[in-house]
Amino acid sequence: MVATGRTALPAGMLESLRAIPGTRILPDEPLAAHISLGVGGPADVFCGVADEPALRAVLDLLAARGVPRLLLGRGTNLVPADEGFRGAVIRLEGAFGAVAVNGPAVEAGAGAALAALVERAMARDLGGLEFTTGIPGVVGGSLAGNAGTATASLGEAVERVDLAFPGGPARAATAAELAFGYRSSRLTATGGVIIRARFRLVPRPRAEVAARVRGFTDKRRTQPLTLPNVGCIFKNPPGESAGRLIDAAGLKGARAGGLEVSDRHANFMVNRGGARAADVRELIARVRAAVRNTAGVTLEPEVVLLDERGGREGGAC
Ligand SMILES: Cc1cc2nc3c(=O)[nH]c(=O)nc-3n(C[C@H](O)[C@H](O)[C@H](O)COP(=O)(O)OP(=O)(O)OC[C@H]3O[C@@H](n4cnc5c(N)ncnc54)[C@H](O)[C@@H]3O)c2cc1C
Repeated sequence: MVATGRTALPAGMLESLRAIPGTRILPDEPLAAHISLGVGGPADVFCGVADEPALRAVLDLLAARGVPRLLLGRGTNLVPADEGFRGAVIRLEGAFGAVAVNGPAVEAGAGAALAALVERAMARDLGGLEFTTGIPGVVGGSLAGNAGTATASLGEAVERVDLAFPGGPARAATAAELAFGYRSSRLTATGGVIIRARFRLVPRPRAEVAARVRGFTDKRRTQPLTLPNVGCIFKNPPGESAGRLIDAAGLKGARAGGLEVSDRHANFMVNRGGARAADVRELIARVRAAVRNTAGVTLEPEVVLLDERGGREGGAC
């Protein structure tokens, strides 16, 4: 390994990555620019990959040289460390944004926005994914954490997930194999990279789909969407609302550095300017302690907190 300041990539790694057609290689890229909360230090290297051959070549190269990798969707459920990430951050771009409606199903690349699936289905008088309205992620990142609402989640609608692995062929996994649960799945444990998925749709007139989309949009009025945030910080405990418990503990408006518990929706934390990952960890610890004291409930983070070596806390297990 050649250690130049913070970077500890094997010698010649950047050149080898750049030589792969369909890659966009950015050394020392600040992750804050790619994370909805606007926090996170630099990744040793950020690799945008435009298609499956490029992804396969990047995965093989990183595995062969022992370089850790982190898959990034839209970064709307992730809080990287202030120290950044020692390894390669991969984002699926280009052809991974493809969406095609085939019969009563929609096939989408892992880089496609959930909103694009709803729109494309609606144009064919198909629905079934309207519950994802307002979830700002892409297919890969959203499936990994089984994104959804209180009553529906992506795992219930998915028929098939195609996964890529270093050093081997892609393989399809069924929803049953991936054991989707409340904001959880076995996807991370498989070590695979989601490249594509197929979701079941239901026949529904487009006016009805549009009305449902409006309904789900309205429900988000309480969310502090004008400030950088990362969605709900905590999972809802069974039969309870994390936001209600945090509010009851008197924590709306509580601050750590530039981060604040939203006064609109207590399960959101907003970046008022200059927030750091350390502030997120501090405020999470304070909120958990307070809710444990007032309600006897231990809140579990829904957001994924990363350390610079890729160690994870919270999110999908
Ligand atoms: C305003 C707002 C509202 C939100 N509302 C909701 C909501 O109602 N319901 C909900 O569930 N969530 C919600 N979220 C959280 C977040 O949007 C979802 O969890 C979203 O699905 C994450 O998608 P992403 O593309 O941003 O994933 P990222 O945050 O980039 O990644 C999430 C996880 O997936 C992994 N990953 C990414 N791509 C791949 C891949 N191709 N293969 C394997 N693993 C991969 C990452 O390593 C990470 O562990 C909200 C967030 C915001 C900011």
